[in-house]
Amino acid sequence: MTTTRFAPSPNGPLHLGHAYSAIVAHDLAKEAGGRFLLRIEDIDGARSRPELADEFRRDLEWLGLEWDEVPAQSTRLDSYHAAAERLREMGVLYPCTCTRAEIEALAPRLSPGGMIYPGSCKGSHHDLTRPAAMRLDLESALALAGELEWEDDNAGIQRADPREFGDVVLVRKDAPASYHLAATLDDGADGVTLVTRGADLFSMTHIHRLLQQLLGLPVPRWHHHALLLDDTGEKLAKRRGSPSLSDRRAAGDDGKKLAQSLRMGQMPCGITLSGFPHGVL
Ligand code: GLU
Ligand code: ZN
Repeated sequence: MTTTRFAPSPNGPLHLGHAYSAIVAHDLAKEAGGRFLLRIEDIDGARSRPELADEFRRDLEWLGLEWDEVPAQSTRLDSYHAAAERLREMGVLYPCTCTRAEIEALAPRLSPGGMIYPGSCKGSHHDLTRPAAMRLDLESALALAGELEWEDDNAGIQRADPREFGDVVLVRKDAPASYHLAATLDDGADGVTLVTRGADLFSMTHIHRLLQQLLGLPVPRWHHHALLLDDTGEKLAKRRGSPSLSDRRAAGDDGKKLAQSLRMGQMPCGITLSGFPHGVL
Protein backbone atom coordinates (compact mmCIF):
# COMPACT_ATOMS: atom_id res chain seq x y z
CA MET A 1 0.00 0.00 0.00
CA THR A 2 1.22 3.46 -0.85
CA THR A 3 1.65 5.72 2.17
CA THR A 4 2.70 9.34 1.77
CA ARG A 5 3.02 12.16 4.28
CA PHE A 6 3.07 15.89 4.67
CA ALA A 7 5.40 16.90 7.49
CA PRO A 8 5.27 20.64 8.20
CA SER A 9 7.25 22.33 10.97
CA PRO A 10 5.14 24.68 13.10
CA ASN A 11 7.59 27.55 13.05
CA GLY A 12 5.74 29.68 10.53
CA PRO A 13 2.42 29.63 8.67
CA LEU A 14 1.90 27.48 5.60
CA HIS A 15 2.11 29.19 2.23
CA LEU A 16 1.33 28.15 -1.32
CA GLY A 17 4.44 25.99 -1.65
CA HIS A 18 3.26 23.93 1.32
CA ALA A 19 -0.21 23.65 -0.20
CA TYR A 20 1.32 22.30 -3.40
CA SER A 21 3.45 19.83 -1.45
CA ALA A 22 0.49 18.59 0.60
CA ILE A 23 -1.66 18.21 -2.52
CA VAL A 24 1.04 16.20 -4.32
CA ALA A 25 1.40 13.86 -1.34
CA HIS A 26 -2.36 13.59 -0.86
CA ASP A 27 -3.14 12.89 -4.52
CA LEU A 28 -0.37 10.33 -5.00
CA ALA A 29 -1.70 8.37 -2.03
CA LYS A 30 -5.36 8.63 -3.06
CA GLU A 31 -4.68 7.69 -6.69
CA ALA A 32 -3.01 4.53 -5.41
CA GLY A 33 -5.80 3.80 -2.93
CA GLY A 34 -3.30 4.43 -0.13
CA ARG A 35 -2.91 6.58 2.97
CA PHE A 36 -1.95 10.21 3.32
CA LEU A 37 -0.45 11.14 6.70
CA LEU A 38 0.04 14.44 8.49
CA ARG A 39 3.00 14.62 10.85
CA ILE A 40 3.75 17.76 12.82
CA GLU A 41 7.55 18.17 13.00
CA ASP A 42 7.78 20.09 16.25
CA ILE A 43 11.16 19.29 17.78
CA ASP A 44 12.59 22.68 17.00
CA GLY A 45 11.99 23.76 20.61
CA ALA A 46 12.77 27.46 20.49
CA ARG A 47 11.10 28.12 17.14
CA SER A 48 8.10 25.81 17.47
CA ARG A 49 4.70 27.45 17.96
CA PRO A 50 2.25 24.73 19.01
CA GLU A 51 -0.82 26.82 18.13
CA LEU A 52 0.21 26.67 14.46
CA ALA A 53 -0.53 22.94 14.24
CA ASP A 54 -4.26 23.70 14.50
CA GLU A 55 -3.94 26.33 11.79
CA PHE A 56 -2.25 23.69 9.59
CA ARG A 57 -5.16 21.29 10.06
CA ARG A 58 -7.62 24.04 9.16
CA ASP A 59 -5.55 24.92 6.09
CA LEU A 60 -5.55 21.31 4.85
CA GLU A 61 -9.28 21.02 5.44
CA TRP A 62 -9.81 24.28 3.56
CA LEU A 63 -7.87 22.82 0.62
CA GLY A 64 -10.27 19.85 0.66
CA LEU A 65 -7.68 17.27 1.72
CA GLU A 66 -8.29 14.25 3.96
CA TRP A 67 -5.57 12.75 6.09
CA ASP A 68 -4.68 10.50 9.00
CA GLU A 69 -2.59 12.22 11.61
CA VAL A 70 0.33 10.40 13.23
CA PRO A 71 1.96 11.49 16.51
CA ALA A 72 3.93 14.73 16.48
CA GLN A 73 7.70 14.55 16.74
CA SER A 74 7.71 16.00 20.25
CA THR A 75 6.11 12.75 21.46
CA ARG A 76 8.80 10.55 19.92
CA LEU A 77 11.91 11.70 21.74
CA ASP A 78 12.62 8.24 23.19
CA SER A 79 12.97 6.76 19.73
CA TYR A 80 15.43 9.51 18.75
CA HIS A 81 17.51 8.90 21.88
CA ALA A 82 17.51 5.15 21.27
CA ALA A 83 18.60 5.51 17.65
CA ALA A 84 21.37 7.96 18.56
CA GLU A 85 22.57 5.51 21.20
CA ARG A 86 22.66 2.69 18.65
CA LEU A 87 24.66 4.81 16.22
CA ARG A 88 27.05 5.76 19.00
CA GLU A 89 27.56 2.09 19.87
CA MET A 90 28.23 1.38 16.20
CA GLY A 91 31.01 3.97 16.37
CA VAL A 92 29.55 6.31 13.76
CA LEU A 93 28.63 9.22 16.02
CA TYR A 94 30.91 11.66 17.83
CA PRO A 95 30.38 14.71 20.03
CA CYS A 96 31.11 18.15 18.63
CA THR A 97 31.32 21.22 20.85
CA CYS A 98 32.15 23.70 18.08
CA THR A 99 30.11 26.86 17.81
CA ARG A 100 28.93 28.15 14.47
CA ALA A 101 31.49 30.94 14.68
CA GLU A 102 34.30 28.46 15.28
CA ILE A 103 33.28 26.41 12.26
CA GLU A 104 32.99 29.52 10.11
CA ALA A 105 36.43 30.67 11.23
CA LEU A 106 37.94 27.50 9.78
CA ALA A 107 36.62 28.61 6.39
CA PRO A 108 34.96 25.36 5.41
CA ARG A 109 33.50 24.74 2.01
CA LEU A 110 29.87 25.57 1.44
CA SER A 111 27.55 22.73 0.57
CA PRO A 112 23.86 22.73 -0.41
CA GLY A 113 23.13 21.94 3.22
CA GLY A 114 25.19 24.85 4.57
CA MET A 115 28.74 24.65 5.83
CA ILE A 116 30.79 21.50 5.64
CA TYR A 117 32.10 20.72 9.09
CA PRO A 118 35.92 20.47 9.06
CA GLY A 119 35.96 17.56 11.52
CA SER A 120 37.86 19.35 14.28
CA CYS A 121 36.23 17.38 17.12
CA LYS A 122 36.52 13.98 15.47
CA GLY A 123 38.78 11.69 17.48
CA SER A 124 39.58 14.35 20.06
CA HIS A 125 38.59 14.37 23.74
CA HIS A 126 35.75 16.79 24.05
CA ASP A 127 35.39 19.41 26.74
CA LEU A 128 32.58 18.09 28.94
CA THR A 129 31.78 21.58 30.21
CA ARG A 130 30.65 22.73 26.76
CA PRO A 131 27.33 21.70 25.20
CA ALA A 132 27.84 19.09 22.51
CA ALA A 133 25.99 18.13 19.37
CA MET A 134 26.45 14.63 17.94
CA ARG A 135 27.75 14.32 14.39
CA LEU A 136 27.74 11.41 11.98
CA ASP A 137 31.22 10.15 11.24
CA LEU A 138 30.53 9.93 7.54
CA GLU A 139 33.65 8.01 6.59
CA SER A 140 33.01 5.23 9.11
CA ALA A 141 29.31 5.21 8.30
CA LEU A 142 29.96 4.80 4.56
CA ALA A 143 32.49 2.06 5.23
CA LEU A 144 29.88 0.19 7.29
CA ALA A 145 26.99 0.72 4.91
CA GLY A 146 28.71 0.08 1.58
CA GLU A 147 27.28 1.15 -1.79
CA LEU A 148 23.68 2.33 -1.60
CA GLU A 149 21.06 3.39 -4.09
CA TRP A 150 17.68 5.08 -3.86
CA GLU A 151 14.97 5.79 -6.36
CA ASP A 152 13.09 8.96 -7.17
CA ASP A 153 9.88 8.73 -9.21
CA ASN A 154 11.00 11.53 -11.50
CA ALA A 155 14.79 11.39 -11.48
CA GLY A 156 15.22 7.60 -11.40
CA ILE A 157 17.83 5.54 -9.56
CA GLN A 158 20.46 7.52 -7.66
CA ARG A 159 23.71 6.39 -6.10
CA ALA A 160 23.65 7.56 -2.49
CA ASP A 161 26.52 9.98 -2.07
CA PRO A 162 26.15 12.15 1.02
CA ARG A 163 29.76 13.36 0.98
CA GLU A 164 28.80 16.88 -0.09
CA PHE A 165 27.29 17.34 3.37
CA GLY A 166 30.24 16.14 5.45
CA ASP A 167 29.70 15.01 9.05
CA VAL A 168 26.13 16.20 9.55
CA VAL A 169 24.60 16.85 12.97
CA LEU A 170 22.20 14.10 14.06
CA VAL A 171 21.62 15.23 17.65
CA ARG A 172 21.48 18.98 18.08
CA LYS A 173 22.67 20.92 21.09
CA ASP A 174 19.15 22.33 21.52
CA ALA A 175 17.03 19.40 20.31
CA PRO A 176 17.11 15.60 20.73
CA ALA A 177 17.46 15.01 16.99
CA SER A 178 18.21 16.92 13.84
CA TYR A 179 15.77 16.96 10.94
CA HIS A 180 17.76 14.17 9.23
CA LEU A 181 17.52 11.73 12.11
CA ALA A 182 13.98 12.55 13.22
CA ALA A 183 12.37 12.53 9.77
CA THR A 184 14.15 9.34 8.70
CA LEU A 185 13.14 7.47 11.85
CA ASP A 186 9.57 8.74 11.68
CA ASP A 187 9.09 7.85 8.03
CA GLY A 188 10.19 4.33 8.94
CA ALA A 189 7.94 4.16 12.01
CA ASP A 190 4.95 5.59 10.14
CA GLY A 191 5.26 3.08 7.30
CA VAL A 192 5.79 5.78 4.69
CA THR A 193 6.46 4.05 1.36
CA LEU A 194 6.67 7.16 -0.84
CA VAL A 195 8.39 10.22 0.58
CA THR A 196 7.12 13.29 -1.26
CA ARG A 197 8.68 16.70 -0.78
CA GLY A 198 10.15 19.64 -2.66
CA ALA A 199 13.11 19.20 -4.99
CA ASP A 200 15.10 21.55 -2.72
CA LEU A 201 15.50 18.57 -0.38
CA PHE A 202 16.57 16.18 -3.14
CA SER A 203 20.22 15.82 -2.16
CA MET A 204 19.38 15.42 1.55
CA THR A 205 17.97 12.04 0.57
CA HIS A 206 21.54 10.73 0.23
CA ILE A 207 21.94 11.17 3.98
CA HIS A 208 18.55 9.68 4.76
CA ARG A 209 19.29 6.58 2.68
CA LEU A 210 22.53 6.09 4.60
CA LEU A 211 20.73 6.45 7.95
CA GLN A 212 18.11 3.91 6.87
CA GLN A 213 20.87 1.43 6.13
CA LEU A 214 22.67 1.99 9.44
CA LEU A 215 19.45 1.74 11.45
CA GLY A 216 17.89 -1.15 9.53
CA LEU A 217 14.88 0.90 8.44
CA PRO A 218 12.69 0.06 5.44
CA VAL A 219 13.62 1.89 2.24
CA PRO A 220 10.80 3.89 0.64
CA ARG A 221 10.67 5.46 -2.81
CA TRP A 222 10.92 9.23 -3.16
CA HIS A 223 9.02 11.77 -5.20
CA HIS A 224 10.70 15.18 -5.20
CA HIS A 225 8.38 17.67 -6.78
CA ALA A 226 8.83 21.00 -8.55
CA LEU A 227 8.95 24.16 -6.45
CA LEU A 228 6.82 27.26 -6.53
CA LEU A 229 8.97 30.28 -7.27
CA ASP A 230 8.19 33.95 -6.87
CA ASP A 231 8.71 36.54 -9.60
CA THR A 232 12.40 36.86 -8.70
CA GLY A 233 12.89 33.11 -9.18
CA GLU A 234 13.26 32.52 -5.43
CA LYS A 235 11.49 29.83 -3.46
CA LEU A 236 8.29 31.18 -1.95
CA ALA A 237 8.54 32.17 1.66
CA LYS A 238 6.43 34.20 3.98
CA ARG A 239 9.26 36.64 4.65
CA ARG A 240 9.23 37.61 1.00
CA GLY A 241 5.64 38.67 1.40
CA SER A 242 3.61 35.85 -0.13
CA PRO A 243 0.28 35.55 1.70
CA SER A 244 -0.05 32.51 3.94
CA LEU A 245 -2.82 29.96 3.47
CA SER A 246 -4.49 31.22 6.64
CA ASP A 247 -4.43 34.79 5.25
CA ARG A 248 -6.15 33.54 2.11
CA ARG A 249 -8.60 31.52 4.17
CA ALA A 250 -9.42 34.54 6.33
CA ALA A 251 -9.90 36.66 3.20
CA GLY A 252 -12.64 34.25 2.09
CA ASP A 253 -10.75 32.63 -0.80
CA ASP A 254 -12.02 29.26 -1.99
CA GLY A 255 -9.43 26.67 -0.90
CA LYS A 256 -10.76 23.82 -3.02
CA LYS A 257 -10.66 25.99 -6.10
CA LEU A 258 -7.10 27.01 -5.28
CA ALA A 259 -6.17 23.33 -4.86
CA GLN A 260 -7.71 22.53 -8.24
CA SER A 261 -5.70 25.30 -9.93
CA LEU A 262 -2.47 24.10 -8.32
CA ARG A 263 -3.22 20.57 -9.54
CA MET A 264 -3.59 21.86 -13.08
CA GLY A 265 -0.36 23.81 -12.80
CA GLN A 266 -2.18 27.14 -12.90
CA MET A 267 -0.28 29.34 -10.49
CA PRO A 268 -1.54 32.59 -8.99
CA CYS A 269 -0.16 35.79 -10.47
CA GLY A 270 3.60 36.23 -10.11
CA ILE A 271 4.26 32.60 -9.22
CA THR A 272 5.82 29.97 -11.43
CA LEU A 273 6.43 26.27 -11.05
CA SER A 274 10.09 25.37 -11.51
CA GLY A 275 10.77 22.73 -14.13
CA PHE A 276 11.61 19.43 -12.50
CA PRO A 277 14.01 18.80 -11.02
CA HIS A 278 15.01 22.15 -9.63
CA GLY A 279 18.77 22.29 -9.85
CA VAL A 280 19.32 18.63 -9.16
CA LEU A 281 20.26 17.05 -12.48
N1 GLU B 1 9.59 19.48 8.42
C1 GLU B 1 10.28 19.53 7.17
C2 GLU B 1 9.97 20.85 6.48
O1 GLU B 1 8.96 21.47 6.80
C3 GLU B 1 9.85 18.34 6.31
C4 GLU B 1 10.75 18.06 5.17
C5 GLU B 1 10.43 16.71 4.54
O2 GLU B 1 9.34 16.58 3.98
O3 GLU B 1 11.24 15.78 4.65
O4 GLU B 1 10.75 21.30 5.66
ZN1 ZN C 1 33.40 20.26 16.64
